[in-house]
Amino acid sequence: MADTHHEKLVIIGGGPAGYTAALYAARADLNPLVLEGPQPGGQLTMTTEVDNFPGFPAGIQGPELMELMKRQAERFGTRCLFEVVTGVDLRQRPFSVTTGGDPYTADCLIVATGASARWLGLESETRYRGFGVSACATCDAFFFRDKEVYVVGGGDTAAEESLFLTKFASRVTLVHRRDQLRASKILADRVQANDKITCLWDSTIVEILGAGDPPHVTGVRVKNVKSGAITERPADGIFMAIGHQPNTAFLNGQLALNPAGFITTAPHSTATSVPGVFACGDVMDPVYKQAITAAGTGCQAALDAEHFLVEAAQ
Ligand code: NAP
Repeated sequence: MADTHHEKLVIIGGGPAGYTAALYAARADLNPLVLEGPQPGGQLTMTTEVDNFPGFPAGIQGPELMELMKRQAERFGTRCLFEVVTGVDLRQRPFSVTTGGDPYTADCLIVATGASARWLGLESETRYRGFGVSACATCDAFFFRDKEVYVVGGGDTAAEESLFLTKFASRVTLVHRRDQLRASKILADRVQANDKITCLWDSTIVEILGAGDPPHVTGVRVKNVKSGAITERPADGIFMAIGHQPNTAFLNGQLALNPAGFITTAPHSTATSVPGVFACGDVMDPVYKQAITAAGTGCQAALDAEHFLVEAAQ
């Protein structure tokens, strides 16, 4: 049988939130263990240039930024393991953590498992991801100066990303499967009032067209869901804004979540519904979803965990 390892602090998730939590926790002498999950480095490892993380005036590649964050945490003694957490038992302390490898117990847990962008599920979408297909306009809009782009979705993110893209793109077409946006009125009004944005109602993208080596997007095939008519349109970039799925399945309902599935935390705190379990980054943040804000809440979670462990020991 596999050995159970006891830890003071286990951080689940190796993205900006998890590594920053580890950096602060290691410097507070908590000897943290990071179980990095299926995609060490998180969503940033899927982007190329990151120009909006402070401290890198010339920009930095997403994977390199994550490697630097990891190394900084390791410099103070953080241990990082490429382990996927498959379950936890939060009914009593120490908490139990099940992985694909050895099991762990922990006096305190930080959940930093992030969120995954939702995709349409098209084979062509996967083929051109990072080559004109993106799920983050804030990250990638800059590469579409004077280009023609499409945004898929009808919520606040689709509206905000469309508006943001108008700063760069020559034309933005918002494709939505209904005949009106579900975005808040203020954002929807701004979209309608923007001359650079055209809304394509009752429509879905059924294929992304591309060519070349390196590959690049050349167009989209769009289906009108009411008439069934399919048209082809030229496009340079496609931005998916159909929501994010917080990565909480392994919690098996043991932490309170909000209606959209993000972990609920106490106001001005990273404390979850279970004392001794803290959450940071995109798994608890449905609004900002940036690497820098994830890192910020990672710092908060480590400070909250430190206070919790000090009080628990008294
Ligand atoms: P969302 O509100 O869940 O909207 C997702 C949109 O994508 C919906 O319009 C949905 O269509 C569409 N969609 C989902 N799956 C699809 C598919 N397979 N094919 C085509 N379309 C699909 O997600 P969100 O816009 O990312 O917002 C998430 C949360 O963050 C919301 O609570 C939002 O208010 C908040 N947020 C707030 C702000 C802000 O206040 N500034 C900014 C961004 C996000 P249907 O409408 O048909 O369901």
